[in-house]
Amino acid sequence: MSLHYDHADVIIVGGGMVGLTLACALKDTGLQIVIIERGEAPVRKSLDRDCRVSAIVMGNVKLLQGLGVWKYLEQDACPMRSMRIWDNQEQGGIRFDACEIGEDALGYLIENSCTQRAMHKTLLESDTVEFCSPAEISEVIWLDDKVEVKLADGRLLSTPLIVGADGGRSWIREQAGIGVWQRDYKQKAIVATVRPERGHNGVAFQRFLPTGPLAMLPMSDGLCSIVWSAENSEAERLMAMDAKTFLEALNVTFGPVLGRISEAGDRSAFPLIGRLAKHFVRERVALIGDAAHCIHPLAGLGVNLGLRDAMVLAQEIVDARRYEEDWGEPSVLDRYMKQRLPDVLSIMGSMEGMHQIFTSSIPGLKEVRGLGMRLMGNSGAIKQLLMRNSTGVSLPVPKQIS
Ligand SMILES: Cc1cc2nc3c(=O)[nH]c(=O)nc-3n(C[C@H](O)[C@H](O)[C@H](O)COP(=O)(O)OP(=O)(O)OC[C@H]3O[C@@H](n4cnc5c(N)ncnc54)[C@H](O)[C@@H]3O)c2cc1C
Repeated sequence: MSLHYDHADVIIVGGGMVGLTLACALKDTGLQIVIIERGEAPVRKSLDRDCRVSAIVMGNVKLLQGLGVWKYLEQDACPMRSMRIWDNQEQGGIRFDACEIGEDALGYLIENSCTQRAMHKTLLESDTVEFCSPAEISEVIWLDDKVEVKLADGRLLSTPLIVGADGGRSWIREQAGIGVWQRDYKQKAIVATVRPERGHNGVAFQRFLPTGPLAMLPMSDGLCSIVWSAENSEAERLMAMDAKTFLEALNVTFGPVLGRISEAGDRSAFPLIGRLAKHFVRERVALIGDAAHCIHPLAGLGVNLGLRDAMVLAQEIVDARRYEEDWGEPSVLDRYMKQRLPDVLSIMGSMEGMHQIFTSSIPGLKEVRGLGMRLMGNSGAIKQLLMRNSTGVSLPVPKQIS
């Protein structure tokens, strides 16, 4: 696509769910936004559905409603009314119900490609957002008062702020010289769409196994999406199985909760690597979404953190303009980082803790874990606090960016 201007108020590199959220948040502000996307990956289908599915928690559903994205999305979204977690089939299980926090759903399960499509439709309503794709950046040049971005086809753009929304292996992060703390979980997540015999009734199931968690997430038409995280060697064994053997392994591992799982679509595997950028910002650069932090998908919160990054950054940019500040300056960008770090660190810490608790083989830990889950299940107050925090409903409803 040809660009209409050679200067943008904000350049967003990466048109994934998080980069598009930032563009949606800024689309009515009058700021000129350019999104540079190298070319979206083809959708990997499983039983004719996108095998990449995300649980968007209730707090962020409200955010998408506020941005005008939800109206294009709700017909594709399956409500998650409750969640059941257990580490063996007999005892120690815990159940979270949306009604316990006064909501209809804890969140919604949505295919990633549907979310992106809905965001694209929302952006079509704006004439200040330009989508430049497929496009490769060949060079980023940092000057005192702006950044220059050279595209591989020779075009040159300038901006006061470049935003890296280009995922876990962010090229922008690398160009900005920002290092990462990295943790290889030595696991892969296998995803696929499956068909259980019984209706799921909007219940999400998570079974913790010594080799990693197996999630069964409700989708529309009675289908479910699985996210089966397993140590690399076990994941490779599961991926190498033929369809019939894999289905058998899935039935044995998940158990009979939803009756027999009669069909499993094509599988894809994703290596699980935790990452935290050592800085979320530097002069004229801000990182959002997986470019800033990648977490284990066991609680399905990765993109949820990214959506909140996008909203906070959008508000800081707009506030800076209102007060005639330069929004590429570290003093402005630091405000974004300071607001996001506590949320990101607390979610990353909880994910790491859960991963350790459920995979560690320390003698006696299994019994303590079972007791802890039972205590939590019986304690209304602790459970409610956990649910309100993880679904984001206790966070302030994001303001309309204006
Ligand atoms: C198996 C699995 C299950 C998950 N389930 C959930 C869940 O239930 N809930 C949840 O909240 N999170 C979940 N996550 C995490 C979630 O998928 C990620 O957090 C989310 O996709 C990150 O979005 P993003 O836009 O930051 O990055 P990405 O989705 O990686 O998008 C980055 C975009 O940038 C583009 N790009 C990259 N490099 C360049 C470049 N140099 N130039 C131009 N464009 C570029 C890419 O093409 C891509 O479109 C899951 C993750 C996995 C692996």
